[in-house]
Amino acid sequence: MPTYARFPVLFERGEGVWLWDKDGGCYLDALSGIAVCGLGHSNPVVRETIWEQAGKLVHTSNLYRIEPQEQLAEKLTHLSGMGNVFFCNSGTEANEAAIKIARIFGHNRGIKFPTIVTTENSFHGRTMGALSATGNASVQKGFEPLLDGFLKIPFDDVTALEEVASQNPDIVAVLIEPIQGEGGIQVPADDYLEKVRTLCDQNNWLMMLDEIQTGIGRTGKFFAFQHNNITPDVCTLAKALGNGVPIGACLAAGQAEKLLNAGKHGSTFGGNPLACSVALSVIEQIEQQNLTERATQLGARLLKEFRLRLDSNPSVRQIRGKGLMIGIELDQPCTELTGRALEQKLLVSVQRENTIRLLPPLIMQDQEADLLVETLSNLINDFTLNSAPNLSY
Ligand code: PLP
Repeated sequence: MPTYARFPVLFERGEGVWLWDKDGGCYLDALSGIAVCGLGHSNPVVRETIWEQAGKLVHTSNLYRIEPQEQLAEKLTHLSGMGNVFFCNSGTEANEAAIKIARIFGHNRGIKFPTIVTTENSFHGRTMGALSATGNASVQKGFEPLLDGFLKIPFDDVTALEEVASQNPDIVAVLIEPIQGEGGIQVPADDYLEKVRTLCDQNNWLMMLDEIQTGIGRTGKFFAFQHNNITPDVCTLAKALGNGVPIGACLAAGQAEKLLNAGKHGSTFGGNPLACSVALSVIEQIEQQNLTERATQLGARLLKEFRLRLDSNPSVRQIRGKGLMIGIELDQPCTELTGRALEQKLLVSVQRENTIRLLPPLIMQDQEADLLVETLSNLINDFTLNSAPNLSY
């Protein structure tokens, strides 16, 4: 089905940060398959793990114990300081699990219509629950009726959260992205998550973080919440956890741990031996190569270099980011820059029409980062050269 307006390029193979199309053209990937291939393409350890595990066992179902799943659960709970985890196959499914946890938490407290606070400009996925949680009318349009039980407030706005707390006794949880990714790399105030944590504690709400894009080292910590001195009650992961092998996870802590018991939730494929052994090898490599630290260093380098080249361009409104989540916001729509970049053999995306989003692999080298800065800065300067600053946009 034509669910994507695809570019007419067909990639045949990849290695590290590079992709090759059918005609042999070589492209620099600054998007990592939308925050998925953090370890780059055709990662040799991932390849070897797939091969080895496929030779042993791919699937048995969740009716029986699965060793790599138990090991991965151990690893993720250890890294997060959380209690347990439900495995699924994608980000949207991980958020569905979170939504179910919040609702059952509410019902157990005697709340008949449990409500989850989410934020404007957020993205949580395409299934009906996650879509209803999402704060973007354009992806929801045509799929009404959306599910009840979601209340939207502005992102990075603690006052708005305090206000709904005083008005709505049905609230049971808050679901937010630590940095909005699809929403154009919106980085909140440093203490935002801490303040949300405090409000959740005061009101007995679950704090649920969607780390599907921010997690697995991308922002310079394994989990983005680790930049703050907090632990959420629920945390969802997917994307980079399998470096391209589909896997999602919903972690829970404290009172959220015990809510989804036998018969309450499930997945045929979720947590299968293949996906879990790959995810384990992904985490091992991030740890062995200290890639969270690398994301911090490389992110700082990219921000500095982009600012050097673009700060004098009046059409560039803001260059922002954390680790390897970087946004360059222009004062005008620039969706066509994605195609222009592709012509220059560079993969980036444009979010909310005016923000160029970069999500490079964590293994990108300095020279590759310099090439990215050079190519993209030239493209942006060329693109904006003949257009006057558009202050009304
Ligand atoms: N949550 C966030 C923050 C995302 O960025 C995405 C995907 O872009 C999702 C959820 C949905 O993940 P998936 O496409 O794996 O269902």
